[in-house]
Amino acid sequence: MQGSHHGGRVHYVAFPPRVAGLYRLRIEQLCLSDLYITGNHMVRIMQTAQERGSTWLAGAGVRPTKQRVALAALLVGDGKDRHVTAESLFASARAEGDTVSLATVYNTLRAFCDAGLMQEVTVDGAKSYFDTNTHDHPHFFWEDEDRLTDAPSDQLVISKLPEAPDGAEIASVDVVIRLRRTTSD
Ligand SMILES: [Zn+2]
Repeated sequence: MQGSHHGGRVHYVAFPPRVAGLYRLRIEQLCLSDLYITGNHMVRIMQTAQERGSTWLAGAGVRPTKQRVALAALLVGDGKDRHVTAESLFASARAEGDTVSLATVYNTLRAFCDAGLMQEVTVDGAKSYFDTNTHDHPHFFWEDEDRLTDAPSDQLVISKLPEAPDGAEIASVDVVIRLRRTTSD
């Protein structure tokens, strides 16, 4: 299919998921979901949630079992980043009619982290949040709702950190800013 855009020629091409996976990294670098510009062509990759899930798994070399694809579709099927707990993803899967167990959801999230597809964000010792955005970024934690959202990275400045003790190095720094609602009156 062809069309025109700002006087230039635009090609809309639907790639099969395997091919789309090759383009996925470039798309993420450009921060343009599903749009890829190659030479004089703008390419639109049309994918279903399941296909997006499969592509996401393939990008990290994770074997796309039916269960993993179903959970991946819930996580990245709309092309947006998402913060989940094992419990919240379990609830979403059940709502879709999936008979997956909570333990399987938890183990799958762990496997996705090990594969580099997600990162774990620890808010308190009791509960882990899992983030499809694997870049370093700060978080807001909405205490009243137990909800985690991204905080603007460009407004965070860390000017000094304590030195790591002898025989240790800093592996990562997690920034979680806890929020509570202000009363409206
Ligand atoms: Zn995040």
